[in-house]
Amino acid sequence: MILQNFIVLEGIDGAGTSTQLKKLKEKLGTTRAFYTAEPVETSETGKFLRRILSGEVPVHPGTAAFLFAADRNEHLYGKDGIVQKDSEGILCFSDRYLFSSLAYQAATCGEDLPRLLNSTFPLPRILFFFKITPEVSLARITGRGVTEIYEKVDFLKKTEAEYEKVVASFREKADSGMTVVEIDASKSPDEVFSVIWKTLQETYGL
Ligand code: ADP
Ligand code: MG
Repeated sequence: MILQNFIVLEGIDGAGTSTQLKKLKEKLGTTRAFYTAEPVETSETGKFLRRILSGEVPVHPGTAAFLFAADRNEHLYGKDGIVQKDSEGILCFSDRYLFSSLAYQAATCGEDLPRLLNSTFPLPRILFFFKITPEVSLARITGRGVTEIYEKVDFLKKTEAEYEKVVASFREKADSGMTVVEIDASKSPDEVFSVIWKTLQETYGL
């Protein structure tokens, strides 16, 4: 199932999704659009996930997969969730969605569990996939050279490869009704934004 007013931004850390969400908010305002992210900032499940991601609470990778799916369920179906807003004609932009689970958790707990846990969630109308090399994204995050941090580069490389697989598998399902737009995220914030804006104009007549 597709949520017609739901739009998702995905990419490895440092790809620039949060920067673009902010630009969208500046341009579109909050009357007709809603801006959100996963893990959900306002939910208890999201707060718990952030503690796990920071390393404060160690859990088995499978446990994290379940919690991400639970948080997503709340994001969609909870009070003032995406499904309700989508049905009211409000454009819902999310910085990350189930594609993050499929890519990141595949890198930590394998493909099967995240796939199972995310198989029944609705898809967005548009998926913007931010493509960037791990070296460039890591340099953005750390603001310095990447030579000392091999491990992080390795993890980002693995995640990047998983993302490519996930996005390719959805692109092949042409009948899903979801449009996949791949963006060269190494371009400037304004250039990336113009690609997003053009797609939104074509889709929603903005
Ligand atoms: P993400 O949310 O994908 O992890 P952010 O949007 O937080 O990434 O951006 C990470 C860093 O890179 C920030 O310092 C941001 O200012 C910078 N940045 C974001 N987009 C670009 C871009 N297109 N070109 C150069 N730097 C960028
Ligand atoms: Mg971000």
